[in-house]
Amino acid sequence: GDSIVTLSFQHSRDRIQLASRYLPGGVSSNFRLGISPTPLVFDHAEGPYLHDADGNRLIDYYLGMGPMILGHKPQAVVEAVQAQLGKGILFGGQSEVEFEAAELLCGMLPSAERVRFSSSGSEAVQAALRLARAITGRGTIVKFEGHYHGWLDNVLWSVAPAPDRMGGEAAPVPQSGTAGQDDLAGQRVEVLSWNRLDLVEERLARGDVAALIMEPAMCNTGAIFPAAGYLEGVRQACSKVGTVLIFDEVITGFRVSAGGVQQRLGVTPDLTIFGKAVASGFPVAGLVGKAALMDEFAAGRKVMHGGTYNSQSIAMAATVATLKALKAPGSYEKLEQRGARLMEGVRSALAAAGATATVTGFPQIFHVGFGLKAAPRNYRDIIATDRAGYVRLTTALLERGVRVLERGAWFISTEHDDAVIDETIASLKGALASL
Ligand code: PMP
Repeated sequence: GDSIVTLSFQHSRDRIQLASRYLPGGVSSNFRLGISPTPLVFDHAEGPYLHDADGNRLIDYYLGMGPMILGHKPQAVVEAVQAQLGKGILFGGQSEVEFEAAELLCGMLPSAERVRFSSSGSEAVQAALRLARAITGRGTIVKFEGHYHGWLDNVLWSVAPAPDRMGGEAAPVPQSGTAGQDDLAGQRVEVLSWNRLDLVEERLARGDVAALIMEPAMCNTGAIFPAAGYLEGVRQACSKVGTVLIFDEVITGFRVSAGGVQQRLGVTPDLTIFGKAVASGFPVAGLVGKAALMDEFAAGRKVMHGGTYNSQSIAMAATVATLKALKAPGSYEKLEQRGARLMEGVRSALAAAGATATVTGFPQIFHVGFGLKAAPRNYRDIIATDRAGYVRLTTALLERGVRVLERGAWFISTEHDDAVIDETIASLKGALASL
């Protein structure tokens, strides 16, 4: 049996309660609400560990929702940031560190000939959609069920997570994502089921779609590879009718390889959104793409894109240091090896406990489909997961010192060594035994 004394999160619970006097729900993002047993309050973090307000040390697979690919407080990034702080913060103009970051990026993502920086993925998506509309002179955007492209009105559309309300695969019923959403924004976006080339080909053939945006491997809901030939087919269908193909690699970029999914699978989009792992936790995101498209931001200043904090120098220093560390020989091999060890450990612990579950995705970002019998193909398969059961498991894991996302994803960093992974698997076995 599992005789471990489990951790308490009472101090976090109390602090959240008090903080609710100043912050709605005690938090600053809706993704931080409704966490079991309580939203956590952190004091510091280093390497693979988080240290919370109760004094607990937690092995972290949340990793800030993806950015901390070099672990928490990576030395090289901290040093680069400290050096840059000595020179200033925000210049309201260009700097050498920005140029260096841009050149590094263009050398890494296959689709990158030019880059525009922003402070969040949500904003970068908006810039990409605007650029696509300007270039094509068309209005309609196509996106996919379960794919996330930020919290703004025109992209927060999917289908209801309920088989009786979502419509058939060929005719999804779009659903807005929040109260207060502008329903007119929904008239310009169409939601398709992902991973079915026939549906894309059929829709694009009408010739009125400005842009098609997708996570090239869906990592916000599950961690699902595109079906064989799907991305290639989508690429062809877009080229045929002049629809701008946008890969949202905010999660996968710099994580699944130096050049993201596009490099791993060899399909090059017109525009790519990046963020998260690019800057080790500093607010950096942006879009890259072919020069002929991207230069429209500058040519006659036709396509407007701004941002007070775009390419802020501290964030750029963090970008340069992060990308250099990721480009260093062996870093992706290390991530893959450690991720594979973790993925295999998770898979065998679940199997040994007799749990019905799938473990899919990349070693660097994988997903546990609790309650699933077969590997998920799309959002429709993911909604069949046993969410309540998985939250019981993640809560039990947290009580044993391991923090993972409740929606099934596990992120790994270069700092999760074999000992940390083995400790994680032992905790997972204990958590499974406690259910
Ligand atoms: N696109 C994808 C694929 C994402 O995962 C996210 C964030 N989880 C975003 C866009 C939005 O990025 P941000 O939270 O930086 O606005």
